[in-house]
Amino acid sequence: MIEVTTYKDRAVMVLGLGRSGLAAAAALREGGAAILAWDDDAEARTRALQEGFPITDPETLDWKNVDALIPSPGIPLTHPKPHPIIAKARATGCEILGDVELLARTQTEARYVGVTGTNGKSTTTALIGHLLKAAGLRAELGGNLGAPALGLAPLGLEGIYVLELSSFQLDLLQSRFLDVAVLLNIAPDHLERHGGMDGYVAVKRRIFDLLRDDGGAIVGIDDPESQAIRDELAEKIAHLLPVSARKSLDSGVSAADGELAEHLGKIVPPVDLRRLAALPGEHNWQNAAAAWATVRFLGVPSEHAAKGLKSFTGLPHRQETIAVVNGVPYVNDSKATNATATAKALASLDAIYWIVGGRAKADGISALAPYFSRIRHAFLIGEAMDAFAETLSGHVPATRSGDLEAAVRDAHAMASAAGEKGAVVLLSPAAASYDQWKNFEERGDAFRAAVLKLPDAQATHAGGERVS
Ligand code: ADP
Repeated sequence: MIEVTTYKDRAVMVLGLGRSGLAAAAALREGGAAILAWDDDAEARTRALQEGFPITDPETLDWKNVDALIPSPGIPLTHPKPHPIIAKARATGCEILGDVELLARTQTEARYVGVTGTNGKSTTTALIGHLLKAAGLRAELGGNLGAPALGLAPLGLEGIYVLELSSFQLDLLQSRFLDVAVLLNIAPDHLERHGGMDGYVAVKRRIFDLLRDDGGAIVGIDDPESQAIRDELAEKIAHLLPVSARKSLDSGVSAADGELAEHLGKIVPPVDLRRLAALPGEHNWQNAAAAWATVRFLGVPSEHAAKGLKSFTGLPHRQETIAVVNGVPYVNDSKATNATATAKALASLDAIYWIVGGRAKADGISALAPYFSRIRHAFLIGEAMDAFAETLSGHVPATRSGDLEAAVRDAHAMASAAGEKGAVVLLSPAAASYDQWKNFEERGDAFRAAVLKLPDAQATHAGGERVS
């Protein structure tokens, strides 16, 4: 845990008592601050109380006596409208800052990498951390992924924090503390929280305002919004490394056709990303290219980085092969909670027995039509069953399986009977998990359990090089 001493003997309100809020409260208490804790949810308040944090109803608070407000990243700062407590704190001039900002102000000797983008943040953060560690460097990974920022270990001069930064977290940052800022891509997401696409792009762009003067900016340029940001930054930032999974580049890092190249020169010996089982698909090549650019900027030799890529095992719930049953891989892509993410999985597979559904997002699955010909059969689950059945009707044969366990059994029966080469059973729900589970991790775990119950199921371990 980090000890935050900046607010010693002063009063700090922690708003939102989930994992990151509780870690922030503990780090501030350790440093001698007086904690005032609040969450709109009664259960969260009870948990915090059990951990010894006094609950204070902000309605009763005299904000003149509060030195800082630390809101959880989920709490609306501006859109659709500010949370009433944020509005009150602001009106009284109380400083509002996030847990990552506190980390940056406290651990000033360490180096920092920040990763943002609409998709691929967690994979890229994990991969950068893995590459740094594989090269013998000390790295701590966290932020939006894994441990909350203030639950990480303190690092000295030799250490590097690799932080996944959601747009919500970027909103709460001010310091120019990043040695490397990575923007992977921008696609419409969470627009309601940012007042539309322009607001969302502006928040993502902010990661580069957090860069130190001599820091490196890594920008994925495969979508028009990110490309525009790169063009704008070209004038301002000395170390700007574009990254593409589609094009060769005369500066930066390219992973076109799955082959990594730095500044147009192929990496020697070549790194063929197509052979890496834990990084399937063009989208992962973008992640790999960004991670490569990052660690090279931080001084990691290419031999070490290449070795690290090969030993990366990937993250659970992202195109994770759980088991191979009678020659058919069962792939858990529970993290794909919208059509854009599911498109990546569908694009990288053929002969798909597709388990899909949950709580539908506003745009449903109609954007997936270009991939329908790859789908042998769909197995529908959850609240979205009717809506998705309608979209698929006339294009893809579908079964209303109802729940995940039934869908796994149905898909198994059909895929085994067909015995087609290249067949795969894929859970890529293109919908949120909240209709049946607490989060996508629980949904993925339920899939794993159902698959491992199948006769002849043998768990596999991701990572390493593909055999074929
Ligand atoms: P995030 O942390 O940004 O949500 P993850 O690394 O957890 O991203 O990946 C989530 C899903 O997004 C993956 O299952 C995959 O379908 C898709 N994805 C991953 N990387 C990319 C990328 N670079 N571009 C587009 N989609 C991606």
